[in-house]
Amino acid sequence: MQPILKVNLTTRETSPYTVPAEWERDYLGGASLAARLLYASLIRDLDPFSPQSPLLFLTGPLTGTAGPAVGRFVVCGKSPATGLWAESNCGGFWGPELRFCGYDGLWITGKAERPVYLWLNEGRLEVRDAAGVWGKDTCEAQQVVKREIGVPGAHVLTIGPAGENGVLFAGIFCDHGRTAGRTGLGAVMGAKNLKAIAVKGSGKIPLADAGKYAPLRSAANRLLKSDTVTQVAHDLGTSGVADYADYLGTMPKKYYQVGTFENVDKVSGSSMAETILTGVSACHACVIACGRVVDLGDGAKRKGPEYETIVGFGPNLLNNDLMAITRLGELCDRYGMDTISASNTLGLAFHLFEKGIITERDTGGLALRWGDTQAAAQLLHWTARREGIGEYLAQGSRRFGKHFGAEDEAVQVNGLEVPYHDPRGVSGMALVYATSPRGACHNQSDYFFVDWGQADESLGLKLYSRHAGAEKAANVARHQDWRTVFNALVMCFFANVPGEIVVELINAACGLDWSVEDMLRCGERGWNLKRAINNRLGLRRANDKLPKALLEPLCDGGAAGYVPPIEEMLEAYYAARGWDPETGRPGREKLESLGLGWVADDLDKGAGGQG
Ligand code: SF4
Repeated sequence: MQPILKVNLTTRETSPYTVPAEWERDYLGGASLAARLLYASLIRDLDPFSPQSPLLFLTGPLTGTAGPAVGRFVVCGKSPATGLWAESNCGGFWGPELRFCGYDGLWITGKAERPVYLWLNEGRLEVRDAAGVWGKDTCEAQQVVKREIGVPGAHVLTIGPAGENGVLFAGIFCDHGRTAGRTGLGAVMGAKNLKAIAVKGSGKIPLADAGKYAPLRSAANRLLKSDTVTQVAHDLGTSGVADYADYLGTMPKKYYQVGTFENVDKVSGSSMAETILTGVSACHACVIACGRVVDLGDGAKRKGPEYETIVGFGPNLLNNDLMAITRLGELCDRYGMDTISASNTLGLAFHLFEKGIITERDTGGLALRWGDTQAAAQLLHWTARREGIGEYLAQGSRRFGKHFGAEDEAVQVNGLEVPYHDPRGVSGMALVYATSPRGACHNQSDYFFVDWGQADESLGLKLYSRHAGAEKAANVARHQDWRTVFNALVMCFFANVPGEIVVELINAACGLDWSVEDMLRCGERGWNLKRAINNRLGLRRANDKLPKALLEPLCDGGAAGYVPPIEEMLEAYYAARGWDPETGRPGREKLESLGLGWVADDLDKGAGGQG
């Protein structure tokens, strides 16, 4: 792989870092390699907002090739929202462009004295004054930086005012709407006085066997083009699944409190296609093109919302106005906030208002009535600026609930808000949320697809009923390992490429001779390493749990009457993983089998969070 460029913003020193060959082989790239590289620095006493806190942007071995949906990069560090491992990946074109510059990653530490942005042009790095862009929203900031550097074809990632103001769910944005949204790393960037990073390069992507890789990726793309998931995502966007999610009761409504909502079909992908959709958009070389382009009647081309944003600002708030949802999503994008955490935290505010736990005295006179999208917009403005009640909303649902004495009402796991795939409709997501290394997360395993009936035989994944319990635990673990490989590559989950083809692409790109099992073992290694990092940061068995709301049965809808048997599932899961059921730590035997005996030694020493 190409070197990683280390940048210390305090001293402005830069140096190329060469990843040891065995780490490259054992972790591939992306989030797994980042876990290995950051292991020593992610200690319990590390303040995520301190200059010492690392921010590592990494690509994978396929990034920037014309392979299937491999235009993504990941950013990793310590989350200010959860205090745990943070990773968030992002599409668009920035990741490939970084590799064209001759680097596979940027490893940022330190803190600039004044706001700056970085300009990496064909491998040469410049630290530039950001006085002209600080305070600008993410769209304006990209335009201003592009204008200032004046090089056509440059790609810019940036934070918005929310990241500058330390909102704990601030994300990192590029290419007008592509987002590394989760775990609050936009606020870490803001704490470093780093507004943006522009990249432009023209180098070639290194491949171990380019002659072998080219026909393989062409065949993979042909297969992908004819895949049903691709066709739905292309024609209807990710919200193409909204109708089915509603039918099965996996689409949350009214902050996870009810199972049905009148006219919910008005927010589906097909409704969008019939009303405001004017086009589609794609990340680098992606044949799926799940992005939406919409027109709200003013002639402007806007990003259309994807599934999470639609549900978060739609049924979650009892709103079925697609245009209002689009505007709320755009507000988040411009301020630079994750739409899942933002809409979830707003949902909690509406819920607590209905219960009388917060009142107009807390909201500055604003009534929070379900479906009121103007009130939701006002809350977003206050959140990004940390004004009034926005000061508490900006800290996410766990802290917001705690401030008002209602922490257990917050639908979150370990400080990360639950996305919009209700485990009462698909039980596999119960385990996914409870054990994900970054808090409640569907991007460590989108197991709802398996529970809906999509399994890859070449991976040895089996199909169980969507309401099966402990018997599916080992299957969930295997799926997490598979998706950990995706997050190492960094490949988009929407690319429904069989495991036997993905391993061939890896072999050709990296010069390996892996089987599918070798590939899954690499995923398992990454999963266990992230778990060990979290154990060292203080995560224990008791942290593997679901919020109260998801353990109360719904009265109506496709999930009515069911709650996942999470304790039985966890017990089976620890057994399948080789983890200690008392401490929740990976066992020595498991770690040694993955070549992680040194991690077992570390955990045995007390796992206290030293190097
Ligand atoms: S499927 Fe969508 S998000 Fe994934 S790479 Fe393609 S365009 Fe980007």
